[in-house]
Amino acid sequence: MAVKKIAKTFLEKQKKRLLKEKDSIMEHIIDLKADDPFSDPEYVNDNAAVDTEVREQNLHQVIEAEILSLQKRATDIDSTLEKIQKNRYGYCAKCNIPIKRARLELIPEAQYCVDCEMQLKK
Ligand SMILES: [Zn+2]
Repeated sequence: MAVKKIAKTFLEKQKKRLLKEKDSIMEHIIDLKADDPFSDPEYVNDNAAVDTEVREQNLHQVIEAEILSLQKRATDIDSTLEKIQKNRYGYCAKCNIPIKRARLELIPEAQYCVDCEMQLKK
């Protein structure tokens, strides 16, 4: 079976976008960590009022969740870069059909075709 090859220029472009995206994700994670009140070494010693305590706790949780979702994207980007390396870029991880070009333009790190993505979200 002949596999339709994805244009090299497109691959190069996607690779650049992914690397840039990953850089900005990593920077964003560092910024978020700096904003986390729990990362403040003074935290344990501060006898903050209860409402401040609650606010810091909430902020910490929001930051944690944000970092987790960024880390997931970074992981997706890494595995996508690996696929580019192995010439397996642009195929759905579930049904293996080529993912539409428009979708890859929109989400370079897309792991699934639209149909599979929908099914996973159900
Ligand atoms: Zn699929």
